Amino acid sequence: MLGIARDPLEHTSMYERGSDDSEDSDGEGGLGNVSRVIIRPPGQSGKAKRGHLCFDAAFETGNLGKAELVGEFEYDLFLRPDTCNPRFRFWFNFTVDNVKQDQRVLFNIVNISKSRNLFNSGLTPLVKSSSRPKWQRLSKRQVFFYRSAMHQGHYVLSFGFNFDKEEDVYMFALASPYSYSRLQSYLNVIDARQGNEKRFTRCVLIKSLQNRNVDLLTIDQVTHSQRTTNRLERSFIRVIVILCRSHSSEAPASHVCQGLIEFLVGNHPIAHVLRENFVFKIVPMVNPDGVFLGNNRCNLMGQDMNRNWHVASEFTQPELHAIRNVLKELDNSDTYQIDFVIDLHANSSMHGCFIYGNTYEDVYRYERHLVFPRLFASNAKDYVAEHTMFNADERKAGSLRRYCCERLSDTVNAYTLEVSMAGHYLRDGKTVALYNEDGYHRVGRNVARTLLQYYRFINVLPVPLVSEMRLQGGGKRGRGRPRTHHSRSRSRTRYEVKPRAKTTRCHAPISYTNLSICYDSTGGVGGGGVSSDEGGFSPTRPLTIAPGSSTFSGCRNYRRAATAASCGHDQYSELSSRHKRVTRAREREREREREREHTIESMGVCVPPKPYLSIIDLNQLTRGSLKLKSSSFDS
Ligand SMILES: [Zn+2]
Repeated sequence: MLGIARDPLEHTSMYERGSDDSEDSDGEGGLGNVSRVIIRPPGQSGKAKRGHLCFDAAFETGNLGKAELVGEFEYDLFLRPDTCNPRFRFWFNFTVDNVKQDQRVLFNIVNISKSRNLFNSGLTPLVKSSSRPKWQRLSKRQVFFYRSAMHQGHYVLSFGFNFDKEEDVYMFALASPYSYSRLQSYLNVIDARQGNEKRFTRCVLIKSLQNRNVDLLTIDQVTHSQRTTNRLERSFIRVIVILCRSHSSEAPASHVCQGLIEFLVGNHPIAHVLRENFVFKIVPMVNPDGVFLGNNRCNLMGQDMNRNWHVASEFTQPELHAIRNVLKELDNSDTYQIDFVIDLHANSSMHGCFIYGNTYEDVYRYERHLVFPRLFASNAKDYVAEHTMFNADERKAGSLRRYCCERLSDTVNAYTLEVSMAGHYLRDGKTVALYNEDGYHRVGRNVARTLLQYYRFINVLPVPLVSEMRLQGGGKRGRGRPRTHHSRSRSRTRYEVKPRAKTTRCHAPISYTNLSICYDSTGGVGGGGVSSDEGGFSPTRPLTIAPGSSTFSGCRNYRRAATAASCGHDQYSELSSRHKRVTRAREREREREREREHTIESMGVCVPPKPYLSIIDLNQLTRGSLKLKSSSFDS
């Protein structure tokens, strides 16, 4: 995989290590991490024998404060608290070597500060070794989290382990680490890869307190022509801001962020559309010092980076201060409008992914704020609606989403997107599938897909015709039907019996489809669109909200009609002219009918009026009823 330019086991040590420190170490490396500490049984001294375990956490993202032998095979391990803040102790990442073949041990992590976590619901530590560099989760059967009488009633995480290769160095971690160095090498790789076609620019927004880069990626391929044709009445350019890793232990969030960046700078058609229409500002690591130091939550100064947005100063949190300036500048600009600020986090106490948002007194504004989470829910199988929360909690006043809600324009939608450190429930609602790096990357891609869907929903981007989608989907997969979200039923009869066919993954017909198009195309356009996968997502007031009304298009309003015309999309003009032709033909037909009826009436025969359906409730429309209605037209 890209970005893993170095083996994390080759420690990029931040401490000068003497050649003989393993013999004379005081047990704690710089800043409180153990640095090649050998634990000998009581009464033994001199050269260490095989099986006298050697612990080390003096490397980037490392965290282990102390190890003690408490029985023949049992070790008590103490996590090192965050720098300048003893409250937070949850992240761990350390190595063990000098093991004996088939040595069995029990490790107890005895000072975890967070008792509400998923250790009893599938979350287990990860392990890898120098000969097997891929992270693996320990089996649930080896891991226990409980209140221990032996440890004054504290919560203890115990896990048993069998060292099966004598020469290997074993590494244990809470989650697959994503270090500052890894981010830097990943950014170097994608920067080198993009060549002359500049899909993004990278700059150092500010240096952290320990002089590390806070990188800012700008993905912007909005061309001049698009600015003039696509944005006739909207001279501003929409900006999406993504932030990640303000909490240093939340490595899964970085994997999500990498998945999103990878997708946005890649060759996928959706990425092309997004790049050409919107500007992305991405800060992939807000807290590089905390990440490097192996802190659980805080920066070097012991401050929680997602609780200080409202008070951040240039001296104590230069990172937040600089990002805030960028946000303010964009928000006050005449050229740009921030649509989204999405803060990526990882969660150790809940499964799946979910969103925290803000509350608004204005019901229309609130509803507009709910659109993105709902669309995201329809895209992501692992989304958990029950964990989604919208609040104006006083405790979270210093978080990014609250800061944006209170200090930036009303058009900004700020969310915290949380992804579990453990896994997500499968469709049965009981089985938990644990995330791996690919799973996190998928969450990132889903964010991008949802953004596309959102902008189609509010009519900023045109909705493609189903026939176009068929061409795209069919060409790629060799099948003449659009991609489906779930696997299609194999039996053709069962497929036809189903009340609502599964067809497409997106496209919100309620905001676009003209009813007469449904009929004239005998279900070709409207039928496919109506039965889209989006059926799962049903906006609260789909028919009362006019497309392009202020409810969904932000405060800086624009008229949809003008936009649609200015989009210059042939599909629109073609459809509307076709629609006019058909209407005219129908009118002539009706004229003739009336004349005929008039003649019959004058002959004294009573003819009942022909049934004619003029209003169709899209919510009621099924494939069967559509066929019925169109056949009633034909007859
Ligand atoms: Zn967090």
